[in-house]
Amino acid sequence: MTERVALVTGASSGIGDATARRLAQLGYTVYAGARRVERMEALKQVGIRTSSLDVTNEASMVAFVNEVISATGRIDVLVNNAGYGSYGALEDVPIEEARRQFDVNIFGLARLTQLVLPHMRAQHDGYIVNISSVGGKIWEPLGCWYHASKFAVEGLSDSLRAELSHFGIKVVIIEPGAIRTEWAAIAGDNLNARSAATPYEEQAKILSGVLRAADKSRAASPPTVVADAIAKAVQSRRPRSRYAVGGGARSILLAQRLLTDRGFDRLGWLAYRLLAGHGPSKGPEGGA
Ligand code: NDP
Repeated sequence: MTERVALVTGASSGIGDATARRLAQLGYTVYAGARRVERMEALKQVGIRTSSLDVTNEASMVAFVNEVISATGRIDVLVNNAGYGSYGALEDVPIEEARRQFDVNIFGLARLTQLVLPHMRAQHDGYIVNISSVGGKIWEPLGCWYHASKFAVEGLSDSLRAELSHFGIKVVIIEPGAIRTEWAAIAGDNLNARSAATPYEEQAKILSGVLRAADKSRAASPPTVVADAIAKAVQSRRPRSRYAVGGGARSILLAQRLLTDRGFDRLGWLAYRLLAGHGPSKGPEGGA
């Protein structure tokens, strides 16, 4: 049987780590990339190849793909997973940081996709799996740049799916809900660094309580739930276009579809106050 080769970005933690392991269990030759190479030592122990990868750096991305092609001559799966949450009020986040958010969450994903496509087209086969979020469909206050970047992942992926179907290449969007990883702590730190001492302080306190609580809540899922959905998609000849998985993802998306935009805003604030341990009575904006 032909060797099957998978690339996973952001594999030093959370969903990327779990996905690299799951694909290796399925028999893929897995190349895992992240900036913190030392954090991928345990992946090496189970036969996964690890490489330094910064998805904001052109030379690093080119070297990653070239390494795989020189060693194996093919790429069957690209999991674009690397990402983080740049939280903070729009007024407080410097545009330079907003650009960094897009560099990691969307331009890195797009550039790596460009680099693997000639190989997938030659094979007339392949899977591009883009890790979006329920946050690619819904929104949160103080999350403007994160949500903008994930809405961009959704739009890019939908166009790309239609464009690549002629070449036998499948594009799959994964929309995780709350997943227990390092993501929430990093987003919370960004939020506090930007907005804890500004006119958005009260909102920031509530949201950072939510980010802390979301991670520990029983509703949050382990990253293996997302890895399983990715494994299912790449083993299917006709994968679904999107998979909403783990951490209340489906209920959140259903609520967004059923409510008006303002209704969803109000429900959001009510849920944030409860999750953060505040009373349900008033949102910081004076609403319900
Ligand atoms: P983690 O913080 O645990 O992992 C993020 C990974 O991204 C790390 O391996 C990190 O590696 C990597 N990364 C960050 N910046 C870069 C960069 N410039 N170049 C290469 N790698 C980078 O979070 P998750 O596992 O939760 O996040 C994975 C994806 O899932 C993200 O896209 C996130 O937005 C999405 N997601 C997460 C949810 C959650 O609740 N956890 C919910 C919905 C979506 P390193 O720092 O070593 O480079």
